[in-house]
Amino acid sequence: MPKHVKDLNVAGKKVFIRTDYNVPLDEGKVADDFRIVSSLPTIEYLLEQGASLILASHLGRPKGQRVPEMSLKPVADRLAELVNAKVHFAPDCVGEAVATMAEDLPAGEILVLENLRFHAAETDNDAAFSRKLAALADVYVNDAFGTAHRAHASNVGMTRFFDQKAAGFLLMKEIDFLVNAIENPARPFTVVMGGSKVSGKIDLLKRLADVADNILIGGGMAFTFLSANPLNNDVGASLVEEDRLEFAADVIKLCVDKGVNLVLPSDCTASREIKEDAEVVELPIRGLEDDLMGLDIGRRTVKTFNSVLDDSKTVLWNGPMGVFEMTPFQNGTRAVAEKLVEITKSGAVTIVGGGDSAAALKKFGLDKGVTHTSTGGGASLELLSGYDLPAFEALKGAK
Ligand code: AMP
Repeated sequence: MPKHVKDLNVAGKKVFIRTDYNVPLDEGKVADDFRIVSSLPTIEYLLEQGASLILASHLGRPKGQRVPEMSLKPVADRLAELVNAKVHFAPDCVGEAVATMAEDLPAGEILVLENLRFHAAETDNDAAFSRKLAALADVYVNDAFGTAHRAHASNVGMTRFFDQKAAGFLLMKEIDFLVNAIENPARPFTVVMGGSKVSGKIDLLKRLADVADNILIGGGMAFTFLSANPLNNDVGASLVEEDRLEFAADVIKLCVDKGVNLVLPSDCTASREIKEDAEVVELPIRGLEDDLMGLDIGRRTVKTFNSVLDDSKTVLWNGPMGVFEMTPFQNGTRAVAEKLVEITKSGAVTIVGGGDSAAALKKFGLDKGVTHTSTGGGASLELLSGYDLPAFEALKGAK
């Protein structure tokens, strides 16, 4: 394991923190500060220890260009409202002016750097750029789980220039929750999977079939599984990945062999159109006519899923049950979110794997009701699939 931020000696030192401030902006203001709030434990701890902090993040995909709409200035402004310390904002993340600002930063104050990805060197993991970033500080902390599955200058390249480096509270918490969930879950352990596609979740599904007691599949991906099942091969115009049918059949077989209870939808909310005022019908899966698409799980499926969830002690949820962005297709996703909140109150550990499921929880105002919501969709998928996260591994290396 890498060091924890608590193992560092930081009094009077300059600490570079790679944070994940890739947040949505709306008219120049932070629209959702979940990631900023999540970064506070590490920031507050290090300030108490007498350090000065240099915070760096990317925001959006400016692709090496200076894009004013993707400036981190609104993030620095929001942080200043949340933290009891002076927050300065640097006009860039490298360069002489920034180096001077970092040099002059007093203990107990924060300097937020401009978007790392205004330089293509960041995602290229460029050595010279890494060296320049590293020169700003004495100690390195990574607390950015959302990008931990990528090897960039700010989370991999620059780490080799530091004697003292560690994972922050958030990164450690994310990894603890997700690794524990999959390696040492209180049972029954139930996984709820959804989202549009099976692609991208293949390794995850295989691994889950090894460790879960129940796997509940909803969302668009359920139709590939339903099509792969010879009893249920007529799914109308629903989303089916023809090139994943064989894989889905393998997962079904794997679950049978391992005694995993794999539950697919028995009914769905269907429509001919994906739009806010779409006309919908609720039908058994096999009742789908050729031009109907299944766009949410139906009430009978919700009931079945709920009865499994009621008995679960650990639940991992990844991916919406339907096109939850639109009112006619949000009921299934809302039902799962509500059930997770209910069983959390009764003592179950409920973990939401970031991305769309986290967005859904937020949309329904239920984001405080689960045990842990990951700040990183892609990173959580990779970690749960059993891959190493390059940024976490880099913290283990010597200078
Ligand atoms: P993913 O990126 O694979 O996690 O998928 C997330 C997206 O899946 C969301 O934007 C949902 O709107 C979409 N989705 C969920 N259920 C369905 C469905 N039955 N048909 C088509 N898209 C869906």
